Amino acid sequence: MQELTLQFKDESKNYQAGDFYFLSFRNVKGISKEPHPFSVSSAPLNKPHEVSFMIHRLGDFTQKIANIPIGTEVKLEGPFGMFNDEVKADKSPVILYGLGSGVAPLISLALQYAGNKQLHLIWPGPQVNNPHYQ
Ligand SMILES: Cc1cc2nc3c(=O)[nH]c(=O)nc-3n(C[C@H](O)[C@H](O)[C@H](O)COP(=O)(O)OP(=O)(O)OC[C@H]3O[C@@H](n4cnc5c(N)ncnc54)[C@H](O)[C@@H]3O)c2cc1C
Repeated sequence: MQELTLQFKDESKNYQAGDFYFLSFRNVKGISKEPHPFSVSSAPLNKPHEVSFMIHRLGDFTQKIANIPIGTEVKLEGPFGMFNDEVKADKSPVILYGLGSGVAPLISLALQYAGNKQLHLIWPGPQVNNPHYQ
């Protein structure tokens, strides 16, 4: 798993907790220009002008991300998603359950609503003991 954090060029851009974007690198040689979808793992409450992703190194695209120099321009299409509206509107306790990198949008929601809602995040898997996510 790797974490990628991007800064918005335009500070008026924003997203909602649990959203996803299609991400592509248009000016980088050696990596496909095709957009790939990734969910945000950060919360706009804590990071209004930045967005983070938790990306599993699986194939051609995701294994090359770590080699891309810091400062490279990234194209984001989106944001898309409806998790935030559902969680925001729900008055009952919320249980979020995710496996592997599927936990990314749930971490985003947990960060956004911790303290305001009764919320349980269940994430089984090897990354659970990674101090970065504790
Ligand atoms: C709405 C949405 C949100 C997503 N959010 C995230 C996210 O936050 N973090 C993240 O890491 N991924 C996320 N994904 C999946 C991610 O888009 C793909 O894993 C990525 O595009 C794979 O690209 P690649 O070229 O590296 O791998 P590919 O070359 O396309 O795939 C390599 C191998 O991995 C397998 N594979 C592909 N995707 C997955 C998967 N998700 N789980 C298990 N095996 C898979 C393929 O079958 C293939 O065998 C999301 C997908 C969608 C549709």
